[in-house]
Amino acid sequence: MLLYDTMARTVRPVATGVSRIAKIYACGPTVYRDAHVGNMRTFLVTDLINRALRYQGYQTVVVQNITDVGHMADDTGLGDDPDQGAIPVEGNEDKVLAQSAKTGRPAQEITAHYEKAFHRDLAYLNIYPADHYPKASEYIASMVSLINQLIHSGHAYVGTDGSVYFSANSFASYGALSGNKLDQLKPGHKFETGESDTAKRFHADWALWKVAGPGRTQLTWETPWGRGFPGWHTECSAMSLDLLGDTVDIHIGGIDLRFPHHEDERAQSNSATAKEVVGHWVHAEHLLFETRKMSKSAGNVVLVEDVINKGFDPLALRLVFLQHRYRSQMNLTWEGIAAAHDQLQKWRTRVNEWSQSSSAPIDESFQNRFTELFFDDLNTPQAISELRTFERDTTITDGAKFETFIHLDSLLGLDLARDIGKRSVIPEQIHELISQREIARTNKDWAASDSLRDQIISLGFSIKDTPEGQQVSPND
Ligand code: AMP
Ligand code: ZN
Repeated sequence: MLLYDTMARTVRPVATGVSRIAKIYACGPTVYRDAHVGNMRTFLVTDLINRALRYQGYQTVVVQNITDVGHMADDTGLGDDPDQGAIPVEGNEDKVLAQSAKTGRPAQEITAHYEKAFHRDLAYLNIYPADHYPKASEYIASMVSLINQLIHSGHAYVGTDGSVYFSANSFASYGALSGNKLDQLKPGHKFETGESDTAKRFHADWALWKVAGPGRTQLTWETPWGRGFPGWHTECSAMSLDLLGDTVDIHIGGIDLRFPHHEDERAQSNSATAKEVVGHWVHAEHLLFETRKMSKSAGNVVLVEDVINKGFDPLALRLVFLQHRYRSQMNLTWEGIAAAHDQLQKWRTRVNEWSQSSSAPIDESFQNRFTELFFDDLNTPQAISELRTFERDTTITDGAKFETFIHLDSLLGLDLARDIGKRSVIPEQIHELISQREIARTNKDWAASDSLRDQIISLGFSIKDTPEGQQVSPND
């Protein structure tokens, strides 16, 4: 499988050495609000990679974390929240606690609610469940031991405010992932907020563990450095090292996580293990809606539930995402979702009809062409377009089309077999009349053609002559 690696800045094969086990870590949701369909597009990338590797015979182990503490409103260093817009420095709260204050509900009630909603949305999009969904709040002990290790090896220190900081200068290749080299990062740029610039030794250092202020009454833990809470980047290092060990074959997240989240995580994990932990960094580009990045602050959030409430199959979203390359920004529209919905219904009807025809083996040459595209850095748009051509190809038997569609659906995840046996289909007798009429038309025997058409209609079917051939459907 070939994937673009942000670190190598090129498309390269996923390498697991001699092992047939592929270990995947995907940054998961921060559970203080519903995930929007932009978040879902990024989560889908993990599913596509997972399905592709399984198809190739790998056993995959997928870990996707649930961030239920420590994700600050401003994690960008730019003084704004990708979800809320511009925020004052003093407003830079833990996202979960801010929601708790706003709604008057306990933090744990909020995180439990949105965690459940996240799993529901994944199921709507046919995203295979991960093997582990670690919650940050349940991995505090792992984080404390990671931080201890980093302090003892000279990569971290306790600042004058009692928080523990990672020393950016102690990690020689800091910046290799994002291109943000330390000598180019200017003092005054906020790398990580919720921490005091004077408490740390160097402006680009970031907090691994933060002391809780007196106002913070929820989501704090007692540690050797007093009562506090973890930095968001610490969480992903600790949970991935704990569950996957010191090699992670593929690490996935949205493009906004490349810096500082993944840059800092790489520094932490590599420093703790003295190894390059992640083999392949994969970043998914942003989803736009009405030409702007989907986010709360832009006011253009669409939820999976909204798509369902408008009467669309949620898998229409999956198809519309497949029609665009994960590594390019994509502008979602309701028209696009509607067209994908129609396409899905059409394919399911076809599969249902084909299921009635004589069985035939899978079309291997198409299977190879399709999978080659799919495994080439997830060139799903091209793969889908080839699938359309294959569907219309009159030289392929219906039986072969059936086998091929069903087989490739293990990669697509579009439930193409859903309608088999559910709706009335075209019986063999009608197929026979259609074939006879096809021959009559080829021979320009219009009288026979018309008579066959009348027979088909009298048996309760309607018939349309289209450039793609005769289209027959039951009158129900
Ligand atoms: P969050 O719940 O905010 O931590 O985000 C979960 C995932 O969604 C992260 O990997 C983000 O990078 C990603 N993400 C956020 N906004 C978008 C968007 N508009 N399009 C695609 N992915 C996004
Ligand atoms: Zn993460």
